[in-house]
Amino acid sequence: MSGLFAEGTRALVTGASRGIGAAVAVALAEQGCDVAINYRASEAKAEEVAARVRDLGRQALLLKADVSDEAQVTAMYKELRVRWGSLDVAVLNSGITADGHLAAMSSTKWNEVVSTNLTGAFLTAREATKQMYGGGGALVFIASTSGIAGRAGQANYAASKGGVIALAKTLAQEGAPRGIRVNVVAPGFIDTDMVKKVPGAQMKEALQAIPLGRMGEPAEVAQAAAFLAGPAASYITGKVLTVDGGMIPG
Ligand code: NAP
Repeated sequence: MSGLFAEGTRALVTGASRGIGAAVAVALAEQGCDVAINYRASEAKAEEVAARVRDLGRQALLLKADVSDEAQVTAMYKELRVRWGSLDVAVLNSGITADGHLAAMSSTKWNEVVSTNLTGAFLTAREATKQMYGGGGALVFIASTSGIAGRAGQANYAASKGGVIALAKTLAQEGAPRGIRVNVVAPGFIDTDMVKKVPGAQMKEALQAIPLGRMGEPAEVAQAAAFLAGPAASYITGKVLTVDGGMIPG
């Protein structure tokens, strides 16, 4: 055992080139995992994350794929199978926003977010699950408090993340007999590129609604994801852990 995970544990993190996904990749490596780093476009940043994983004495694998594209997702898992043979942990994190009020939302904006966040979660989870049949494993989805409580201006995003939570709860029931645990981390406001897009006045208002009085750091989400993915959470499945500084009730 090295950290939370047994030696040789193999993990995939989607959207691991930046932000929360990058922090999850590093946290998993710190806790003993070899990490496959998926990204869509930010190759140089993904390489930096891979270097950090290798500096921790773990193997890193770079896998470029758009999670909303079925053929690319299938090819990514094929490469993973060929290179590593097994997969123990998948953190399904990749996601985007394209905010706007519902009454003025184009179907393009709707589809863009739903296809990356929800269809992407479906495609990557399906392939991860298939790869875990026989050996078991753990999946962690990164959803959002918007998917639990809703958020004005985020109809597409909130719907996609609510869908991810329902998908995870269903997969938890299907996976349990096969030794696959499935959980969700639902972050609130976390200091990444995604949040930099939020207008200043809106951000100020949001911060006032956070009891802990600040945004979260990617590493704080990563610790929650690593816990749920690891053996310390062996009796936890189908659950949602909010990491939001106390922002939403319950
Ligand atoms: P971020 O800094 O914008 O990073 C997004 C990551 O997702 C990048 O690695 C990006 O890859 C990847 N990605 C985007 N579209 C992709 C696609 N089609 N296929 C593969 N990878 C794709 O965002 P973040 O804040 O870290 O968000 C990570 C997750 O946490 C998302 O699911 C987000 O919804 C969720 N979340 C974030 C917050 C927050 O406040 N930041 C709050 C709640 C939930 P490239 O770099 O290659 O584009």
